[in-house]
Amino acid sequence: MSLTLSNRPHPKADFPIFDPAGPNAGIAYLDSGASAQKPKSVIEAVSAFYATGYANIHRGVYKLSANATDAYEGVRAQVARFINAASDQEIIFVRGATEGLNLIAATWGRAHLKAGDAVLISALEHHANIIPWQILRDQMGVELRIAGLAADGGIDRADFTAKLADGKVKLASFTHIANATGAVLPVADLIAEAKAAGAIVSVDGCQAVPHRPVDVQALGCDFYTFSGHKIYGPTGIGILYGRLPVLETMPPYQTGGDMVATVRFEATEFLDPPQRFEAGTPDIAGVIGLGAAIDYIQSLGWAWIEAHEKSLLAHGTAVLSKIPGLTLLPAGSERSGIFSFTVEGVHPHDLGTILDHHNVAIRAGSHCAQPLLNEFGLTATARASLGLYNETEDLDRLAEAVMAAQRMFA
Ligand code: PLP
Repeated sequence: MSLTLSNRPHPKADFPIFDPAGPNAGIAYLDSGASAQKPKSVIEAVSAFYATGYANIHRGVYKLSANATDAYEGVRAQVARFINAASDQEIIFVRGATEGLNLIAATWGRAHLKAGDAVLISALEHHANIIPWQILRDQMGVELRIAGLAADGGIDRADFTAKLADGKVKLASFTHIANATGAVLPVADLIAEAKAAGAIVSVDGCQAVPHRPVDVQALGCDFYTFSGHKIYGPTGIGILYGRLPVLETMPPYQTGGDMVATVRFEATEFLDPPQRFEAGTPDIAGVIGLGAAIDYIQSLGWAWIEAHEKSLLAHGTAVLSKIPGLTLLPAGSERSGIFSFTVEGVHPHDLGTILDHHNVAIRAGSHCAQPLLNEFGLTATARASLGLYNETEDLDRLAEAVMAAQRMFA
């Protein structure tokens, strides 16, 4: 695929929500960090599955069910290839990153941690990678340690190292890219360091997988989780990758149908991973849509996506930096996909509302990362986040709308 994609229309044309003749004509959608829009191919794959291919999986002896099972398991293999897992068995379908992180805490955490052990997270986490560990702290007496924020908006590496030093950290769980600022953490180094200190390592990949190729074997983490809806797939489906030898040590998360080998009133024998962690009828159509989303990303290719988003980041940084009174939250040594900012004299919520009047969609608030915003002495920011369909014009419109808001509040 050509880097300029000169042989096809801009990807924006693949997304029905941006139809210039539709109800959202002209929208500058800058909230992909919260959830990404869906290409036609994903919408059609879900619709076609319900229209012509639908049946429950794993149970039917008839063709329709066998085909649905093949399609569902085919996406598992596709996801394994997408993130370079060593085996399909390492891919667990969950509702999203939130469920993936809760699953790790509730199964690995409860089976392997004891009072006095420590869990290490960072100051840059989404609430979904804070609260599950707080619950273990409060219920099991596990210590929760936080690697601090560096002055440049990255992770404080020295603090991370210091918090691993006594060997009590049994699990380290940190984000790949901070959703509230776009800071890219040096995850490969952090993983290596935490592993060397004897910890199991979990990475929250929610904000990374939409923007860059991820190779879980090269990273060397034990868990990696992300949400399908942020990579142009449906809501309600996500991935928890777990290294098989680690998954094999874990008890089930939920129980019921589809995860058992035998059930007697006296005892139940569970299936091996991944089925052990997929109780009940899953979001089959969501899985089909996720497969189509991965196909879509791969049809554009990472080279184009990364080059395109890099130029958007540079453009956005340039236009936003020129606005007096606008402060961009720092994002360490590398920023990805997200501009989080405040504007002097305009509350982020007012800004979001005014921008909406200019047909510019951003997010305002704490971005489910209250502790991180507190570190910056803030309770809310405005956040513009990128998807592969954005164009530099969307960022120009953002800058113009911010300046219009400033004039209103002057
Ligand atoms: N982790 C990060 C870094 C996120 O950005 C998000 C969503 O914004 C989540 C976790 C939770 O994802 P979900 O709500 O899809 O479960």
